[in-house]
Amino acid sequence: MGGVLPVRRAVVTGGAGFVGSHLCDRLREEGTEVVCVDNLLTGSTGNLRARDGDPGFTLEVRDVCEPFDVAGPVDLVLHLASPASPHDYARHPLETLRAGAQGTANALDLAHRKGARFLLASTSEVYGDPLVHPQTELYWGNVNPVGPRSQYDEAKRYAEALTTAYRGARGVDTVIVRLFNTYGPRMRPEDGRAVPTFVTQALAGEPLTVAGDGSQTRSLCYVDDTVGGILAAAAATHPGPVNLGNPVELTILDLARRIRELCGSASEIAFVERPVDDPGLRRPDIALARAELGWQPAVDFDKGLAMTIDWFSRLG
Ligand code: NAD
Ligand code: UDP
Repeated sequence: MGGVLPVRRAVVTGGAGFVGSHLCDRLREEGTEVVCVDNLLTGSTGNLRARDGDPGFTLEVRDVCEPFDVAGPVDLVLHLASPASPHDYARHPLETLRAGAQGTANALDLAHRKGARFLLASTSEVYGDPLVHPQTELYWGNVNPVGPRSQYDEAKRYAEALTTAYRGARGVDTVIVRLFNTYGPRMRPEDGRAVPTFVTQALAGEPLTVAGDGSQTRSLCYVDDTVGGILAAAAATHPGPVNLGNPVELTILDLARRIRELCGSASEIAFVERPVDDPGLRRPDIALARAELGWQPAVDFDKGLAMTIDWFSRLG
């Protein structure tokens, strides 16, 4: 069971978002027909501009929390629909829980009906504020079930459990990928995440708002690498969960300084209050992805940041 290559027709839920739109573009470059299902809650048609006039691409604007069908054959369902930035899921707590619960069930039902492989875009947030570092897939996590991040973390944990149950009880061919922090063009300047916020601030000459003392760490993966990992997981037979991320770890203060330098900015650093339950350390162990998918990130961090800064500077 498992592995779809070549993929003739794929459904991408959340395909108008940051990661999803790059995924749609890559699938089309590889000759796969794509049906994107997105309610545009946090995504936009602007992300899909490269698909204008593309006969192999269809956008269906609908909420995956309502049962949905897609006409014709489908080989692969890639389920990404969910608010993803802490700002977004704080603003949309119920939508986030529903996307993880009903949305995942509806996407799994579609894969079941079509006999398609199903990929769940889960997250490093299932590890919560981790007590094990770096995080391997064997770690069960440290999540506050009633904290300010719980709507997202628990929705994804439930989505993983649901995906596992559909695999066991209904025989759906599934794979769970746990994406770590991803950055690149098409992040929204106002989405509140560290990279777009610091880049926007540095380009405007405004202070860079570093939370706490900035000693918390993240490991940032360029979006092209993340998309490559997602497609490698779709094409393999492994059910996961499998971590997809870049193991190069840095503190948030170092990230702010690096972005400021690459922007040629004289912005100051402003230390602001640290959000509650903000994870202290995050770095993926990607041994499983290397062994089972033959995947590892390839884009150098400074190069990825430079491409991202260039994109933001063109937004005007
Ligand atoms: P995003 O907000 O840019 O994209 C999410 C997309 O899902 C948007 O286009 C949004 O409109 C759509 N959506 C949300 N709820 C929906 C619903 N009910 N019905 C239909 N569409 C809906 O976020 P992103 O950063 O591109 O993240 C994409 C996926 O990857 C998410 O599932 C997220 O949890 C996961 N992920 C992302 C990261 C990251 O660093 N970007 C890290 C870990 C996991
Ligand atoms: N962060 C920050 N300033 C900002 C936005 C984020 O210092 O303006 C910090 C945030 O507190 C966290 C880290 O950067 O420690 C990564 O945050 P992000 O929202 O990008 O991702 P996540 O918390 O989901 O990993």
